[in-house]
Amino acid sequence: MDGLVVEPERAQLSVLSFGLNNAACVFEGIRVYQGRPFALREHVKRLAESAEMLGMQLPFTTPEVEKAIESTVITAGFSDAYVRPLVWRGDEAIGIDPTGTSIHVAVPVLRWPASIAKSNSPVRLHLSRWTRPAPNMAPVKAKASASYVIGALALDDAKRVGCDDALLLDHNGDVAEATGSNVFIVRNGQLETPPPETFLDGITRRVVIRLAEEEGIPVVVRQLSVDEVAAADEVFLTGTAAEIKPVGSFMQRTYAGERPVTALLAAAYGCLVRESHPLEVK
Ligand code: PMP
Repeated sequence: MDGLVVEPERAQLSVLSFGLNNAACVFEGIRVYQGRPFALREHVKRLAESAEMLGMQLPFTTPEVEKAIESTVITAGFSDAYVRPLVWRGDEAIGIDPTGTSIHVAVPVLRWPASIAKSNSPVRLHLSRWTRPAPNMAPVKAKASASYVIGALALDDAKRVGCDDALLLDHNGDVAEATGSNVFIVRNGQLETPPPETFLDGITRRVVIRLAEEEGIPVVVRQLSVDEVAAADEVFLTGTAAEIKPVGSFMQRTYAGERPVTALLAAAYGCLVRESHPLEVK
């Protein structure tokens, strides 16, 4: 935290932090497989970009943040872990003007719970009443804490009606993303996913597009409607935590259990992260 290794209970911040009061906070989520943070460079790059979109300059270089993550993972001693790097503004101002506030960085490392690894049942997806804001309403491409207000409300609604996750539309009524993952559909052997114009451009999403292309599966990036998701052959979600998660049902639709394309890509992704991804440790 801010350049020092500290025990979790000592990693504290002021209740007057500008980041807490005014949501000047961005973060990342990184999975560690067998001691190696996957796509570390991409995540730290996006962290710095998200911070910049909120007017915050990281007080460390991106290689310094990468090194901090690697060494904290080693210190924690977890083989499978989740790293949650955070950047936020300090408590020097109580108003709305962030001028003069310090920028803080922390890289908490959590043990990845084995229970999550086992829960790979298809997602019951709810259509949310909440929509993602237009790009001129919020810094939609930043992984900003403020965006998660909507996601948490959408997820809460979904759980209340017996679903596992929610699909959010954008301001035009097109499909945007789920609460913590991106959306793909399979139609006639072709992969389709919306362009990340009003939501987070997931790193897993980019990896999946690359893997599909390597497997010879055509990929089309275009706006998708709710009806197209409902009518698709297969639907899956992608994210660092979720990896590749099949969708079992959406609105009145229940998808067939075979899901050949989802299964192929999930297997390829599993190989990439667990076995063969190149060491990013310098
Ligand atoms: N959208 C949202 C809202 C997310 O929280 C996440 C998870 N970070 C994603 C998409 C997927 O991004 P990634 O693949 O980089 O984890």
